[in-house]
Amino acid sequence: MYKIALDGPSGSGKSVMARAVSKQLNILYVDTGALYRAIGLYMFRNEIDVSDSEKVISNLKNINLELAQSEEGQVVLLNGENVNKDIRLPEISMYASKVSAIPKVREFLLDIQRNTAKKNNVIMDGRDIGTVIFPDAEVKIFLFASDEIRAQRRYKELIEKGIETTYEEVLSDMLKRDENDRNRAVAPAVPADDAVMLDSSYLNIDQTISEIIRIIREKINL
Ligand code: C5P
Repeated sequence: MYKIALDGPSGSGKSVMARAVSKQLNILYVDTGALYRAIGLYMFRNEIDVSDSEKVISNLKNINLELAQSEEGQVVLLNGENVNKDIRLPEISMYASKVSAIPKVREFLLDIQRNTAKKNNVIMDGRDIGTVIFPDAEVKIFLFASDEIRAQRRYKELIEKGIETTYEEVLSDMLKRDENDRNRAVAPAVPADDAVMLDSSYLNIDQTISEIIRIIREKINL
């Protein structure tokens, strides 16, 4: 059994790459951001102030999260409801980032993440997979790209989904969220010492996938 940790900032292309690599290698893909988003969504729906960490923590007992697999890939169930669509709303991103800075929230999500690798080879995308979730991962990759390129990609993705926004709004939200994620006290979104750094700014999707597969093959005998 092996684990591939794919970390990096928002908009670096982690989910697209992880999905493609999981198909190519026929392994499980776990998108951990979706779990933080589901907790953010719960707080949003229940009008809980996410800057009040005690309030957030006291609400965790009302949350049951499950990860299921479907034809289209991972499904996040929040108290039994498929919330895959709602967790992608742009306003939920900041909620996810805010709740993710609370150590008890991260603890709450530890087992669900680690359990996925018990019976499957897995590629997991997130911010702290190589540092906290699987410090012993066989492969650790930190994917990044310039701020402008990441914002352009995210903007295009949102517009294609029919979500109304502007490039400037996407860039400013992304930079705020990056700063939160990088500077939090617990599990900051920084590369593991032994991660391979991969800059995707000037690589297209296919080139990035090939590069990731090359790095994986260097570390694991597939
Ligand atoms: O990857 P995605 O943009 O969906 O993640 C949403 C938010 O969840 C991130 O901004 C980050 O704050 C948080 N997150 C995290 N640790 C992870 C994955 C996501 O803190 N492993």
